[in-house]
Amino acid sequence: MPDILEGYRKQKEYLICVDSDGCAMDTMDSKHITCFGPCLIPVWGLSPWEQKIRRRWDEINLYTMTRGINRFKGLAMILAEIDRTYKAVPDVDAFVRWTGEAPELSNQAVKAQWELTGKEIFRQALEWSEEVNRKIGAMPEDAKCAFDGVREALKAAHETADVAVVSSANKKAVEEEWQRQGLMEYVDVVLSQDSGSKSACINALLKKGYCPDHVLMVGDAPGDCEAAADNGVYYYPILVKHEEMSWRRFPGEALERLVRGTYGGAWQEQMVKVVRGALFYFIRRKMGKLAQENTGSRFKWKKPSDLCIMKAVIKAA
Ligand SMILES: [Mg+2]
Repeated sequence: MPDILEGYRKQKEYLICVDSDGCAMDTMDSKHITCFGPCLIPVWGLSPWEQKIRRRWDEINLYTMTRGINRFKGLAMILAEIDRTYKAVPDVDAFVRWTGEAPELSNQAVKAQWELTGKEIFRQALEWSEEVNRKIGAMPEDAKCAFDGVREALKAAHETADVAVVSSANKKAVEEEWQRQGLMEYVDVVLSQDSGSKSACINALLKKGYCPDHVLMVGDAPGDCEAAADNGVYYYPILVKHEEMSWRRFPGEALERLVRGTYGGAWQEQMVKVVRGALFYFIRRKMGKLAQENTGSRFKWKKPSDLCIMKAVIKAA
């Protein structure tokens, strides 16, 4: 594999890795609800089940533990479900296998796989992905804004640390969005979909000489937390629906602890629980609402223990 960081040099002792969609940028809901989900329907001829399939896409990518996964992995999940539930999707097994094994999941990689195998499903996946990129590019600029508090937090981070964007989105879109929001002046390098998985990106950054204890991954999804854990670096959660609060607390809390050497142990454990707690709460609330819609039931979900931790953290802010 070519060196994805050719020419990059470590400048400071600390490194902050930041995810983009749903973490720094308030783009997650709009991209999935108006671009990713709707583009599935014409490519695979799914109009008889459009509403259900789009709702399921949003669940996979926004409201469950798979929030924030690579687009092709999300696509493999939903195509397998469509194949089981609605209509046959030829070669879906080959597509699922590819998303589980390929070192890179990008337009370029899916195109190469189509040329290699001649299987229609890879061509369709490319068509869908390119159409999604076109739709995202055409979204109004005010639908692609950074969360409040991001600029101040990144400015503070960049005074002490190198800053890397580590995203599984399309590189061109990420760079344009960060540029437009005036955030690139606090960024040293952008790693995205075509640089490999988030875990591989953090690994490549570590090879530039950072001590894992000096590296922090910031993200909104369990996958960001796992990418940090894979590399033995720290993790800070941007909580769904509490993004601004999470960023406002970042300089005085996360950054401060990282530099003081007190991020590890109990604090890190709490941060890991918090991201799962926040999503778990979200899933249950959504399921509760659906149950109410379908049956009129007023059953209330019991609060999960992780939620109590999240609330305690929010309260302590
Ligand atoms: Mg994200």
